Amino acid sequence: MGRIRILPDQVANKIAAGEVVERPASVVKELLENSLDAGARDLRIEIESGGRRLIRIVDDGCGMLRDDALLAFERHATSKLRDVKDLLSIATLGFRGEALPSIASVSRLLLETRSPEEPTGTRIDIAGGKMLVCEEAALGGGTSITVRDLFFNVPARRKFLRSEQTELAHIAALVTHYSLAHPDKSFRLIAGANELLTVTPVATLKERVYQVFGSQILDELVDIGLRERDLFLPPPSVPPSQAIAEYRSEPDEPPVRRFRLSGYFSRPQIQKGNRNSIFIFVNRRLIRDRLVMHALTSAYHNLMPPSAYPFALVFLECEPEEVDVNVHPSKTEVRFRHGSFVHDFVRDTIRERLMESRPAPTFSPAPTPARTPPAQPAAQLPYSEFSQMLENEAPVAAAIVDAAPEPADPGPAMPEFTLRATPPPVPRLDFSAPPIEVAPGPPPSGKLQTRRLDMHGEFPPEAIPAPEMSLSVLSDLRPLGQIHESFIIAAGRDGLWIVDQHVAHERILFEQVLKQRAAGRVETQRLLMPLILQLTPEQQIDYARIADELHASGFETEPFGNRTIAVKAAPAAVSAPDLERIVYEILEIADTELRGASLDDLRRNICASIACRAAIKINMRLDFAKMEWLLKALAATDCPMSCPHGRPIAMHYSTREILKAFHRI
Ligand code: ADP
Ligand code: MG
Repeated sequence: MGRIRILPDQVANKIAAGEVVERPASVVKELLENSLDAGARDLRIEIESGGRRLIRIVDDGCGMLRDDALLAFERHATSKLRDVKDLLSIATLGFRGEALPSIASVSRLLLETRSPEEPTGTRIDIAGGKMLVCEEAALGGGTSITVRDLFFNVPARRKFLRSEQTELAHIAALVTHYSLAHPDKSFRLIAGANELLTVTPVATLKERVYQVFGSQILDELVDIGLRERDLFLPPPSVPPSQAIAEYRSEPDEPPVRRFRLSGYFSRPQIQKGNRNSIFIFVNRRLIRDRLVMHALTSAYHNLMPPSAYPFALVFLECEPEEVDVNVHPSKTEVRFRHGSFVHDFVRDTIRERLMESRPAPTFSPAPTPARTPPAQPAAQLPYSEFSQMLENEAPVAAAIVDAAPEPADPGPAMPEFTLRATPPPVPRLDFSAPPIEVAPGPPPSGKLQTRRLDMHGEFPPEAIPAPEMSLSVLSDLRPLGQIHESFIIAAGRDGLWIVDQHVAHERILFEQVLKQRAAGRVETQRLLMPLILQLTPEQQIDYARIADELHASGFETEPFGNRTIAVKAAPAAVSAPDLERIVYEILEIADTELRGASLDDLRRNICASIACRAAIKINMRLDFAKMEWLLKALAATDCPMSCPHGRPIAMHYSTREILKAFHRI
């Protein structure tokens, strides 16, 4: 009895229809998803000419019965859905029954498949949607689909294809992402004579990240571990009599939904110019989702400049009923049933982990993940399906070099000098095994770097670097002095620290003000004479909007005639000469923030602004007692790693690095 059925019209009509086959990578995506849905554990992908000439995917999945193989090329033929109800809880990657017929209509397709339930396999040959051959064939188990001459019969489409390199970059990134989502499976991506990705099954995501990117990247990342949060569903709002009946009819329905989060994200010091290094998976499906993206970036709020983004691989697991994947034809967008719960879960978890791990920036700026030579050539092509970056014909080499991080706000004039007197030792940590080939930077030409890299074999646990030096050790630091009256030099249990006194104090004050604000008792001081400020019409509107917020933050203000306000009291931390500037600054924040961000963000930004103005400045001599106090107070903060604007606070130069620099080891 076959498994595939044609969906009834009323189901087919409810499916987000659309063009599935846009480019070679979309063919690869659909075929890979089919193989994964078929339970394959071993997937091989062969590509020629960026997928124009040939795409072949060979899997060891369940294969298809003869009748099913024929049916699979009908529109809306699927084994994954039966009725409309199934659309509410989709547990497979595919569900529309559209991919195979769509691909077959724009290419020459060869399907070879055999289910273990039948003694022989089936071979079907289709060109431009017309079936040419359907025959019995002696085949092993699993399925092989070969797609040749994509768009041979749709010249308009063919014309829109990008260069072979670009198309291949899209494919390589896609396969890499799926390989990260399925560490227990083996993936091989072969393009012409080059192996771009070869990963064998491993037990954990950590090992897969190691296989794909190499060990250096793990050094830069914080492991989420496995975090869970339960959502308690309210009882159904139906009349009591009916509710009782419903409960009886569905006694197993659990009133709790469990959400799980795992994966990796980068320390705040790793700052990317765009979102391309953020990968979000929901139930192992790579998606683009503004909600989760926002949650992620708000976890870094006040730890990273607003224009910077982290590197993240985030896996959210939930019951299929909680997420609607039938929103967009390419299945990359989803809709959560309980969006704000998901948002807060992701934001809080990442923020908590950031605080727990308190990762210290290292003295020698570590290579950012995308710059780190990855273990697998395919990983060097961080195409994000969502980015337009590769859409222009820029050579791949240019695209793989991450946009340079935004230069940090230089702040007040500073004496010019460089923190890096000696070249940083490379690599920073010594791994006993296996040798990691440090590839030279991005290839000089526009060509893909396809030379065979040293593939990692089994994962040696000892190759995982020891956890990074945590900022918790700050409490043991002994100040030695200042340089340029701006940076505190301190000796610690392991090596040397340099702490930026201004941003350190800024962080201390920021958290203090935020806590006072939350507790509703901000320390204020009354001014001897009210400060009268003139406002522009725009500022007047902003003022009206945030007057309550200003008050809660410790500013006592009131309207004073036409477009004028009187400030009567201010937070104790703010000194009188700074007051005027800070009020104008807050009005400016309000102007930009109120358009997009939440009230919470506005609040944090007001606190950040107060902290910045009130903090000790650079070019200021500090005595030892002050320095000691500053380091202790910094150690006691929740986030001692970066200032509320995202600049690093403390740099660490380990004893090991010092020994290496002096050639003692
Ligand atoms: P969908 O994945 O949405 O069901 P497709 O057109 O992609 O639709 O595939 C149609 C059907 O063909 C699938 O439901 C599945 O039963 C079968 N199929 C496709 N690819 C494979 C494969 N690699 N192994 C086993 N069965 C497959
Ligand atoms: Mg499919």
